[in-house]
Amino acid sequence: MRLNQIYQTLLEHFGKQHWWPAETRFEVIIGAILIQQTNWIAVERAIENLKSEGLLNPTSLATASLERVQRLIRNLNFYRQKARRIVNFSRHLVERHDGSLDKLFGKSIEEVRKELLSLDGIGKETADSILLYAADMLVFPVDAYTVKMCERLGCKDLRYEELRNLFERSLPEDLEVYKEFHALIDKLGKMYCKSKPRCSSCPLTDECGFKSS
Ligand code: SF4
Repeated sequence: MRLNQIYQTLLEHFGKQHWWPAETRFEVIIGAILIQQTNWIAVERAIENLKSEGLLNPTSLATASLERVQRLIRNLNFYRQKARRIVNFSRHLVERHDGSLDKLFGKSIEEVRKELLSLDGIGKETADSILLYAADMLVFPVDAYTVKMCERLGCKDLRYEELRNLFERSLPEDLEVYKEFHALIDKLGKMYCKSKPRCSSCPLTDECGFKSS
């Protein structure tokens, strides 16, 4: 799988995606937790609700009541669980790092990743999205779109860490490439490489051995 070539092809086809769409690093993190098992339009609405009530900062969210946060994000799947998760993350940030993302991110990639993974509701994909898009660390998040594209391009049965290592070994050490490539793969997954793929119009059709009927 020629990842650099795939990146160039997707970039030429779709153009830059400018991810992550957020005004602050804290907003990136809250978005990364809320996006699980839902769509981005719903997350944007939930984030706007939190923002309009002045809760999109660590101190305010850490002290907000769960009922209030649940009400503001109730348009999301699993909103009760997600309200608890974003409040818990904020409390952790305030109690352990004085509410400072600089302090949270001021360690090695592995140390920050381990800390994020210890928190409720932050799995590998969410942790790695936070590391890349909020902490500006060179980590490639592997989501369901990435797994599907890789399987169809011939990399089957690789575990999360193996796929992540494959991208990190193959790509130049360039944050913009990491950020754009992850976003471009999601675009490909939403437009072409779906459960029922649209191979005849896909930009990767020359690269890809998998062909839908
Ligand atoms: S050619 Fe088909 S299977 Fe291959 S990446 Fe494109 S949509 Fe997916």
